[in-house]
Amino acid sequence: MARNTGPSCKLCRREGTKLFLKGRRCLSDRCAIERRPYPPGERNQKHRPRTSEYGTQLREKQKMKRIYGVLEQQFHGAFMKAARQKGVTGENLLRVLERRLDNVVYRLGFAPSRAAARQLIRHRHIHVNGRRVTIPSFLVSPGHVVSVIESSRANPFVQQSVQSMDRTNLAQYLSLDEHGFSGKLVALPARVDIPTPVIEQLIVELYSK
Ligand code: SF4
Repeated sequence: MARNTGPSCKLCRREGTKLFLKGRRCLSDRCAIERRPYPPGERNQKHRPRTSEYGTQLREKQKMKRIYGVLEQQFHGAFMKAARQKGVTGENLLRVLERRLDNVVYRLGFAPSRAAARQLIRHRHIHVNGRRVTIPSFLVSPGHVVSVIESSRANPFVQQSVQSMDRTNLAQYLSLDEHGFSGKLVALPARVDIPTPVIEQLIVELYSK
C-alpha cells in the first residue's frame, strides 16, 4: 500500500507546527521543530513569500492529511463521504477521519503514533468486536469494541504504550477498560471533543472551488 516514506519531521517543519507523527520523540527535546523551527530549505525566514488564500487553504488540507497519515486519494474519498452526510461538511470530514481504526487504536493508547497503530493493525494484533481487522482505514462505529488480541498484550511495544497512556486525556467519545487493552467508541465524536488543531472550514472552501 502506498504511504509517505520520507522523513516525518520534515512534514511538521513544513506545516510549522507539531503534528505528533513520531510518538514519544515528539514530546522530547529531540523534536526537530524545537531545534529547527523553520521550513525545510528555508533558513532565512525574512524572504518567505506571503501566502495567498489558496495557499492557506492548501496548507490546512496538507496538515490534516499528514496528521491522520492519509494520502491524497483516501483524503478525497473521506471528503466525498463527509459531503454526502447531513450536517457541517468540515466536521463530518473530521469525524470520518477520527473513526478510522488506526486513529482509534492511537487514541486508545495501544500505539504511540498513528503510523505505529497502522503497523499493529496490519500485523494482525487488533480485534474489532472480537474479530481480527487488518485494514487501518476500517471505520469504527459507535458500540464497536477495539482491543489488542490476548497473545499480543505481552508485547513490550504495546505494554510500554499502554503504560504511558495518560487516561485523563482520553477523548470523550472513547472508553477504556481497566487493564487498558480494550476500548469502545461510545458515541460519534463531536467537534469539541476532537483535539485536532485544524480549521476544517478552509479545507471545505478549497474543495468547493
Ligand atoms: Fe513532528 Fe514529532 Fe518530528 Fe517533532 S518529533 S517534528 S512533533 S514528528
